[in-house]
Amino acid sequence: MSGYQPVTAEIVAVLSAIVGPGQVVAGDEIPARFGHDAGTWRDAQHLPEVLVAPANAEEVAAVLRLANRALVPVTPRGGGTGLAGGAVPLLGGILLDLGRLDRILEIDPQGRYAVVEPGVKTSRLQRVAGEQGLLYAGDPCSNDDCVIGGNIATNAGGNRAVKYGVTSDQVLELEIVTPLGDRTVVGSRLRKNSTGYNLVRLYAGAEGTLGIITRATLKLYPLAPLIRDFVVTLPDLASAIGLVSGLRNDHGVDPIVLELIDRRTAHAMERYNEAPVFGNPAGDCLVVQFEADDADELARKRALLELRSRGHGALGVEPAVDSEALWKARRAWGKALEAELPVAFGEDLVVPVELLAGFAARLQELVARYRFDFRLAGHAGDGNMHLRIAPGAVEPDRWPEAHGRFRDELYRTAYALGGRLSGEHGIGFKRKEPLGRFIDPVELSLMRAVKRAFDPNHVLNPGKIFDPA
Ligand SMILES: Cc1cc2nc3c(=O)[nH]c(=O)nc-3n(C[C@H](O)[C@H](O)[C@H](O)COP(=O)(O)OP(=O)(O)OC[C@H]3O[C@@H](n4cnc5c(N)ncnc54)[C@H](O)[C@@H]3O)c2cc1C
Repeated sequence: MSGYQPVTAEIVAVLSAIVGPGQVVAGDEIPARFGHDAGTWRDAQHLPEVLVAPANAEEVAAVLRLANRALVPVTPRGGGTGLAGGAVPLLGGILLDLGRLDRILEIDPQGRYAVVEPGVKTSRLQRVAGEQGLLYAGDPCSNDDCVIGGNIATNAGGNRAVKYGVTSDQVLELEIVTPLGDRTVVGSRLRKNSTGYNLVRLYAGAEGTLGIITRATLKLYPLAPLIRDFVVTLPDLASAIGLVSGLRNDHGVDPIVLELIDRRTAHAMERYNEAPVFGNPAGDCLVVQFEADDADELARKRALLELRSRGHGALGVEPAVDSEALWKARRAWGKALEAELPVAFGEDLVVPVELLAGFAARLQELVARYRFDFRLAGHAGDGNMHLRIAPGAVEPDRWPEAHGRFRDELYRTAYALGGRLSGEHGIGFKRKEPLGRFIDPVELSLMRAVKRAFDPNHVLNPGKIFDPA
């Protein structure tokens, strides 16, 4: 990639005129946190040349038009909790901080939708919707820090995807600023719509490479009167995954959440949070959440969960003592593991749910063969495994090379099962190299063609997902 121009004093002056001088920070004044996201803070840092905080779509559009004239790259940033480097300005240029677009514009209980700006924190939307008896179902574990624009751009998954799907399933309509600086609306509030290409689905997961989301209309659901968490402890991962398969198809239990946490991860989370949220488990844990209309339905579902769990050899089925503490611990699983395994590589692999057992068996076999160690906290109900692979018994000087071979074998295993590199965190620049090796070449050429058509000057978030051919 070449041909980009530096951000000159003249460009900074035009940016200041667009967004106001107080909303532009250049050079050494830019805070260090804008050089990385939550997944790349250990790597080389990439600070932008200028940080710009627009207040509305018109200002975003003006910045994009300037970027095309001046040939300067633009990287959109939401909460900065991404784990793949998507919001990192790899090539410098302009970093567009969308945090000022943070209004909840409308909540319509009758139409069951919310209209929000992209900088609204996910937990805030959940809370405000909840106060009106409504559920916003997108629920990534970073919900206190990430924002709706980032969730849509990464097509974030999360805990409730088992029943409600991922972020793209929540989106009805998007206002977009295109890479060339035009404004448009894609999708609609209609509950059905076969009018041309489904561009909402294209934008969800495009990681800010095809346009900037400046407003979103999102689905809301009625909030169930009762929502309860249970911790099922099982003797091994194979039994836990067997139970996941059973519960996924069990209309009687109808789980919203099926989170798999291996016992060592559960212990690390309890130590880190200084709270026995899993009850100091003697086995691997499956967190099951379901909804109920009343106490009778709750009792019926609980009895059914116990029955199914015993059928898979459960050692215990306990209601969560403190659901809030349990989810707080789940959200901090990465931090809990960093404290105990400072050298470890994170994975976000996804395989068909019904093939998860085979994938887990192969993972354990590979880890043993390489004499590595691993931890797991996975959205198992979606076939999505969050792994930390650590050197284990391998000497530090052998780890990088051995880990490279291991990753290759692991990815081959996932692809052979019909899986993919990322279930929800995206490609960013962190997984760009393996994506180039594993993606079907025709699919990649279609993606490149879409990018060229939307962004002929390649100014928007270049170097993410793939490099221009
Ligand atoms: C503790 C922790 C737990 C997590 N748990 C989950 C989880 O359960 N599920 C999950 O899916 N992810 C999870 N993540 C990853 C991360 O939170 C998600 O990817 C989230 O959606 C990123 O949102 P963000 O606002 O932080 O986006 P950022 O990191 O700021 O950006 C992410 C991408 O979106 C683009 N972008 C941001 N805003 C816009 C916009 N308005 N228009 C166009 N593009 C935009 C950026 O350019 C970048 O490519 C977790 C991360 C952490 C640190």
